[in-house]
Amino acid sequence: MKCQDYSLNRQTERNNLNLNPLQRGGVLPPESREALYEFSDGYSVCDYCSGRLDEIPKPSIDSFLEDMARFINVDQVRTVHGAREGKFAVMHALCQPGDTVVMDGNAHYTSHLAAERNNLNIVEVPSTGEPEYRIDPVAYQEVLDNLDDQGEDVSLVLLTHVDGDYGNLTDARAIGKIAHDAGIPFLLNCAYSMGRMPIDAKNLNTDFIVGSGHKSMAASGPIGILGVKEEWADLIFKRSGRHQVKELEMMGCTSRGAPIATLMASLPYIIDRVSKWDVELQKTLYFVSEMEKIGGVKQIGVRPTQHDLVRFETPFFHSIADKHPRKGFYLYEELKKKKIVGIKRGQTQWFKCSVYGFSQEQVHYIAHSFAEIASNFRKMAD
Ligand SMILES: *Cc1c(COP(=O)(O)O)cnc(C)c1O
Repeated sequence: MKCQDYSLNRQTERNNLNLNPLQRGGVLPPESREALYEFSDGYSVCDYCSGRLDEIPKPSIDSFLEDMARFINVDQVRTVHGAREGKFAVMHALCQPGDTVVMDGNAHYTSHLAAERNNLNIVEVPSTGEPEYRIDPVAYQEVLDNLDDQGEDVSLVLLTHVDGDYGNLTDARAIGKIAHDAGIPFLLNCAYSMGRMPIDAKNLNTDFIVGSGHKSMAASGPIGILGVKEEWADLIFKRSGRHQVKELEMMGCTSRGAPIATLMASLPYIIDRVSKWDVELQKTLYFVSEMEKIGGVKQIGVRPTQHDLVRFETPFFHSIADKHPRKGFYLYEELKKKKIVGIKRGQTQWFKCSVYGFSQEQVHYIAHSFAEIASNFRKMAD
């Protein structure tokens, strides 16, 4: 058969400043691009394996997992294929079909799918709604108290540490304590935080913690981190009956090549960048304040923001779209002329973006570019 030419490239994304929050934390440092090449063959980490991926000595996956465990202060760590697979594994090992899991109203769709695929019943803790969409510990307390009054057992409490809609940072430590006081284990989803900001799993009262390599840990992925408190290790890492060394929830082996090689190569870089989180946050705060000077542009979610993912409501840019010959596409196209991408094509009412990892000069250039577009088209605004 004949097929298309699949020699792929993504010049546009690589040669422009990409504001897509989904992609800012997954950019590889040079040493990891090298590892990607070295380990590009299938099963490339398996040369020295004696049956357990997590115990491979060369490349030193064994000591990498120990370093990772110290980095996030958790007892046991495994790699999985993503944050979602980590959540699924925890629910699968811990819950029975029909059990109830409580999670925040800002939870990622993958938290819902992980629960659905396990036939679990989801009870949501609502956010405060417009404009902050804050998840309050007291709301968790109320939901758990209500379920308790109804005689409903809860098998797991899940919280999104930083959500992907508003970039709100939640009080995980307080919510973890509420879960523990009710005798329920606590799973923290750190897809948007682990690898960007300091994470201390014990201090945050977690029993289980998941992270995303391709989202926030400078790995090509797909790869995730699953951290487990010692008292749950036997349950989550239960072995196969037929294949004594293999861990059931891990399906024996998880990441078997380039994804884990790039994550390993990135660990020193991640440790370093996490220590500079306050500098990143300052850049974001500067960016938000510059954007809001445009007028008709407002950051929503908790203010001042505590994360680089920011959501703007942009009625000003939207009002231009009505009169502009390119309609809603003008913003994307004008940004592209300035070598800025990552805002969805056609979207002007609101957008999410992130300047994570850009230099101060680049952040200044990006903010200035938005301001310039605003002033060029101001006459078209209402
Ligand atoms: C991106 C994201 C995920 C999914 O992460 P994967 O590693 O791709 O499974 C889960 N939760 C949140 C909050 C996210 O933003």
